[in-house]
Amino acid sequence: MKFLFLDDKHGLRELSFTRRGLMIGGLIITLLIAGLLTFTLDDITSAMYQAKMQRLKQDNQRVESRLGKLRGTVDSLAGQINDLEQQDDAVRTYAGMATINSDIRDLGIGGSRYDRLHSYDFLLPKGGDRISDLTVTVDSLTTRVKLEQQSYTDIDSFVSFQKSLIGSTPSLLPLQQGNFKRFSDGFGYRRDPFTGRRRFHYGVDLSSWRGKPVLAAADGVVEFAGWKYGYGRAVVLRHGHGYETLYGHNSKLLVKRGDHVSLGDTISLVGNTGRSTGPHVHYEVLKSGKAIDPSDFFYAGPLN
Ligand SMILES: [Zn+2]
Repeated sequence: MKFLFLDDKHGLRELSFTRRGLMIGGLIITLLIAGLLTFTLDDITSAMYQAKMQRLKQDNQRVESRLGKLRGTVDSLAGQINDLEQQDDAVRTYAGMATINSDIRDLGIGGSRYDRLHSYDFLLPKGGDRISDLTVTVDSLTTRVKLEQQSYTDIDSFVSFQKSLIGSTPSLLPLQQGNFKRFSDGFGYRRDPFTGRRRFHYGVDLSSWRGKPVLAAADGVVEFAGWKYGYGRAVVLRHGHGYETLYGHNSKLLVKRGDHVSLGDTISLVGNTGRSTGPHVHYEVLKSGKAIDPSDFFYAGPLN
């Protein structure tokens, strides 16, 4: 191959290459350019890689710091739930309920599904908080909170029932202390003061003075208020949980059928009506329609 070119000094000149020489020259130039390009690309790739590593490192530090804070929050929650559990035990003990078995409290903690989560731990820097541990803790806290919610509902039902039972149980004498003379007759067989024959006495007789207030022995509703053969002017209260009380021989009734009364309300005045030999309250306690000994219920003595 020949090249012709014009030179200012020498005029027209001729340059000739063999085909082979030309090919080798071209190859060398191509290799040089390729080499240069590769070198530059390596540099660029390396710089980008470094920058990316730097970003990942920073991301990792942020994740680690965030996990550390989460762990702190979770630990604080665990402490609060622990307090709640202790209070739960205390309330249950105080209310006379069984405390929750520790085996039941431990239910739902741990398990194979957490093993899978360990596989993500390699993503975190060594020595940092572990995602799986945190997940196990959070899940266990969730279970404990749910258990506590259920437990508090149970305690509430139990206490409400006990409160209603206590409110319904005729546990106090139906007279103020100063208005109560003595028990003139008890529950059981006795000699009838009118006929002199042996007869069952279904209540207790509380000696008092005419006109003194007769008090409701528990919360309830007036079932009967009127004249009752043998009992004179009488009141029957229905208390719930199967309890009823009867107050006989009153001089005056202060309630009517259907009235709601609370423990300690005055329902009538002491008298001597019906089969009675002096001012007193004939007081009966019935459980599911059957008379029981009222003195079994006088836990606290007369009302003050
Ligand atoms: Zn009596």
